[in-house]
Amino acid sequence: MDFKPLIGALSTAEEAVLLVGAGISYGKIPTGYQLPIQFGEQHRELMRALGLFEDWEKAYGVKDWTVQKPFVEKLVDAFSQEENLALQQTLVDWMQRYKNMMGARSNIHATFVIAWLLGIFEHLITTNWDFLLEWQIDKIYYDPRKHTFPFEPSEFTFKNGTSYSIDPDNLYVPEPLDEDEEEFFWAPRWDIMSTPGDLDRLQEWTRPLWKIHGSPFFLACPKCGGQSYWQVRKRRPRVGDPCPVHPDQRLEPEITFWGQSIDEPYPEVWGEVKARLERADLIVVCGLSGSGSDSYIRRVVEANANVWLVNPSPGDWDLSAVHHVKAKSAQFAARLRGAFLT
Ligand SMILES: [Zn+2]
Repeated sequence: MDFKPLIGALSTAEEAVLLVGAGISYGKIPTGYQLPIQFGEQHRELMRALGLFEDWEKAYGVKDWTVQKPFVEKLVDAFSQEENLALQQTLVDWMQRYKNMMGARSNIHATFVIAWLLGIFEHLITTNWDFLLEWQIDKIYYDPRKHTFPFEPSEFTFKNGTSYSIDPDNLYVPEPLDEDEEEFFWAPRWDIMSTPGDLDRLQEWTRPLWKIHGSPFFLACPKCGGQSYWQVRKRRPRVGDPCPVHPDQRLEPEITFWGQSIDEPYPEVWGEVKARLERADLIVVCGLSGSGSDSYIRRVVEANANVWLVNPSPGDWDLSAVHHVKAKSAQFAARLRGAFLT
């Protein structure tokens, strides 16, 4: 585990990307097909009603993913059928109960988002459904000590008690309130980009978190894009509710499952992400095995000339195309803090 060459390359990079995957959440959400199989186990009646029970039974209790695959494919297919509202609502409700979906304090995720807010990484892309990155961003933005003064620095305190101060210029941009540009509003720079509708909000100064696999907390209207109800406690919209703006349209779940990839449902969003991966002068990949349905991302990343894979194992990555730093995300985060957040 030698981080020196990577830290050196990162200090001179002008447009670096940080791409993170399930590995940085490992141990909190069951990986791979375990999650859909557990869902089937706890919803046997629903599986029966959908005609999926036999497939679930075959997938349950075996370790061979090729045996599990037919059930998962049929479940995902059933989920995408508009009429299966009960399955859609039940599955997203069930996934939301995983603790890290609501977010929690995490040194790894905090380090990554601070490095991104400071511009050490120009772009942050996640394939994860959880809200561990977003939770830390929220804590930075809504520091209660400066709640009403966005022009003061924000402070984030790590678990070990050390704190880091972030300049307001990295967090806000003054946006004119009127055409005369006399009155300004402090607009937060950060945003979540997931669907084509979200792209309308993309500005020169936005720092979008590319959440390319959506979330169980996202519902989308086909006409106006996504809405997140992460952290909304009351009157949450439900699957199938009419869009508040387009009453003739129904809200649909916005989540990309096992075996699916974002390039198919949302080529516009993938196009934006792909362009960034292609023009970046450095890409760090952390916690992404690049296997299965993520191989379309891996191929684009591998084509970039300056890729650093920080993973305990190489997964499906072509080690002749990427630099491999054999390490865990926590070790990388600690090294980043030592080099850039002092
Ligand atoms: Zn709408």
